[in-house]
This record gives sequence, structure tokens and C-alpha cells, in this order.
Amino acid sequence: MNFALSEEQQLLQSTVREFGDRELAPYASTWDRDESVPDDGVIAKIAGLGLLGMCLPSRYGGGDQDLLTAVLCIEQLARISPLCAGSVFESNVGPVRVVEMFGSDSQREKFLPRVCQGKLQISVGMTEAEAGSALTDLRTKAEKVDGGYLVNGAKCFCTGGGHSGAYLVYCRFGGALGAKGIGGLLIEKGTPGFSFGKQERYMGLRGFPGCDLIFEECFVPDENLIVEAGGFASLMQCFDIERCGNATMALGIATGALEYATQYALGRSTFGKPICDRQAIQLMIADAATRVDAARLLVYRAAVSADGGFPSVKEASMAKVFANETAKAVTDMAMEIMGGYGYSAQYPVERMLRDSRGWALAGGTLQIQKIIIASTVFGRRFDQRA
Ligand SMILES: Cc1cc2nc3c(=O)[nH]c(=O)nc-3n(C[C@H](O)[C@H](O)[C@H](O)COP(=O)(O)OP(=O)(O)OC[C@H]3O[C@@H](n4cnc5c(N)ncnc54)[C@H](O)[C@@H]3O)c2cc1C
Repeated sequence: MNFALSEEQQLLQSTVREFGDRELAPYASTWDRDESVPDDGVIAKIAGLGLLGMCLPSRYGGGDQDLLTAVLCIEQLARISPLCAGSVFESNVGPVRVVEMFGSDSQREKFLPRVCQGKLQISVGMTEAEAGSALTDLRTKAEKVDGGYLVNGAKCFCTGGGHSGAYLVYCRFGGALGAKGIGGLLIEKGTPGFSFGKQERYMGLRGFPGCDLIFEECFVPDENLIVEAGGFASLMQCFDIERCGNATMALGIATGALEYATQYALGRSTFGKPICDRQAIQLMIADAATRVDAARLLVYRAAVSADGGFPSVKEASMAKVFANETAKAVTDMAMEIMGGYGYSAQYPVERMLRDSRGWALAGGTLQIQKIIIASTVFGRRFDQRA
């Protein structure tokens, strides 16, 4: 197997790394403290690097790049803070890919160019109060009426909620139960009958907006139907791209924590010598470095498996589980290495630890990913309702 990156990928990787260190790192803790979204100037700089919609087709303003190349960029930005990587994530691995893969030509024409220009962000509304892991229990209803659909229901935990201009909303069409009745509508902010709940306050991922989406007799025109009822498997297949992105966010956080703790251990002395001379610290750094490398290999393998389409379900879930667990373990180790300073908000590691927890919940819990992996290993589905 060849794990080498091309010269172009290596150049892009180092360009994004330097950009992040120079332009974004100085603000990462302020964005976290103030829970503020990076402003348009920052998004414009990221767009200037060609990172927005880099995986989307060039005829819509995208970059025709493969998933691995986007993963390399997201990783470098998430190393500083996932918030910095948010726009690159949303425009390359987010629900926009459902529009690209399953939308009509006119839907692509309408939405993709604006995503590539940084003028539109698309979020996903799947989860409901009674349908998180048990997603096929969702009840948000899309009733067919003349010229469109009347949507009623509510979604929760929608990242980008209130901020994004459009939402891919998983709905139940007609009376079919379970996965059969589920499809996806793209609902634009400002549509009458569509409102937002109050903003969530999370332990981490501060600066990422997140809230309930509320639909009351909300009329959505036929032209906004992206995935028809019965297309749940297609929606999930596309969501594996997002799971690769989620795993990359976790990988970036773990890498950032490892790099920070390593530098700290070189500079901090106790009892007259640097703590990096202590075997206890060396063992923690060795363990963290090994886990981060293993996570990186799994994430890159999953990204490569997409090969212009969808990633392998098994490889995407393995990458997500391992990268999420790595980020949690490595940020915790980094905090240990830094003693009391690791716990102080003056240093980035406590933020990284808080953020790592969020990625392990978003995009499906670790337990659910493990059930998916087990299904692929056993070669059979395990009905959670049986
Ligand atoms: C930061 C953040 C961002 C998010 N962003 C979005 C978003 O943009 N859009 C969106 O739609 N959703 C989003 N979510 C929601 C997220 O996808 C759900 O929270 C997640 O899927 C879990 O659902 P739940 O919270 O209802 O937990 P539950 O489903 O109630 O699970 C509770 C616990 O039970 C376990 N469990 C459940 N069923 C089983 C089973 N069959 N076997 C074993 N264990 C089981 C779970 O693993 C978990 O430990 C976000 C969540 C967070 C925290």
C-alpha cells in the first residue's frame, strides 16, 4: 500500500498549516471564550485559499479535489481549533454533498456556487428529541400539498442552527413507518413557518451555533425536495462523508494537543530538569503519538475509500470511533502532562479536551458506530428494535 501524499497535497497541507498558525491561532481562544463565529473576513481568507467547496465540481465553482485532500486541510485547521475548520468542513463534507450527489441540475445550480463562494452554509437537521440514535423514529412530517409540502415538527442540536442559510431536513413523508418513509427537504432560512429555538450552550465547540429547528405549517416548494421518501439509505451513505469529516476534526484536535504538550514538556522543568527527561512523561507522549498516527491512518484510509463517491461504511465508522477516542484520550494526557496549567483556560488544552467530547457525540455516538462496525464484521444487520 502506498501512503505517500502527492507533492500538491503536501504543498497544500503546509500552506494551510502556516495559514492556520499565522492567521487563526491568535484568535482561537477568544472565539471560544466569546462564543463568537469567525467573521466574514476570516471566511473570505479561507475562501481565498480555495478551501471552500474544494471537493465540489468546478462547474459550480468548486475545486474538483478528492476527499483526502479536503481531510488534509480540515486536519490542519482543526489542529488549531475545529471552529477554524468549520466552513471547510461544512462546504466539503457537510449536507451540501447530499445536494451535489442527489440533487437535480437546477438544485445544484442554485445552491452549490453560493456554498463555494462562502455566501451560503447548509446545515443538517436529523435529530429530534425522541429520535437521536434511533433516527428512524423521527416524526417531523412533510405532507404533500399542491405545489409542495407542508412541514410540521422540530429538530434539535442542529449545528449551524440560526446561522446557516439552508437546512437539509430529514422528514417523514406519508404514513410509512421506519426508514421507508424518510426523505430530505432543503428548507431555506426565512421560509414562513420555519423558526429557531434558543441557542444551545455546550461544554465545548463554542462559537459553533446550534439550536432547535421548528416547523409550523411550513410550506416548502416541490423544487426543494432533494431526496424522496425511501431514500434513507442514500442519506446515510452520504452521511459517511460527514463521518470522515468528524473523524478528521477529532484527529486535528488530538494532533494539536500532542504538539502543544510536547513543546510544553520540552520547556517545563521540575526538580532541576525538563519534564521530557522523565520516563513517566515520555511514556505518555509515546502513547499519544502512536494513537494519533493510528487514527491518522484510519482517517486517511476511510477518505481514500470514497474514491470520488461514498466512503466504506466500515472504514468511516472505524475512523470515527478511533479518532474520537484518540482525541478524548490524548487531550486528557496532554492536560496531565501540563499539570495545573493544562486545566487553565490560559492554555488551549482544556478547550481541546472540551471540544473532543462534542465530536464524539455529533455524527452518531461511539456505541452506534461500534454497532455499525460489528454489523459489517458479522455480515448481518442487528435490529435494535427486535
Ligand atoms: C455538539 C453536537 C452537535 C450536533 N450536531 C447535530 C447536527 O448538526 N444535526 C443533527 O441532526 N444532530 C446533531 N447532533 C445530535 C447528535 O447526532 C445526537 O446527539 C446523537 O446522535 C445521539 O443522540 P441522542 O443525543 O438522542 O442520544 P440517545 O440516542 O438518547 O443515546 C443515549 C445513549 O444511549 C446509547 N444508545 C442508544 N441506542 C443504543 C443502542 N441501540 N445500543 C447501544 N447503545 C445505545 C448512546 O450511544 C448513548 O450513549 C449534535 C450533537 C452534539 C452533541
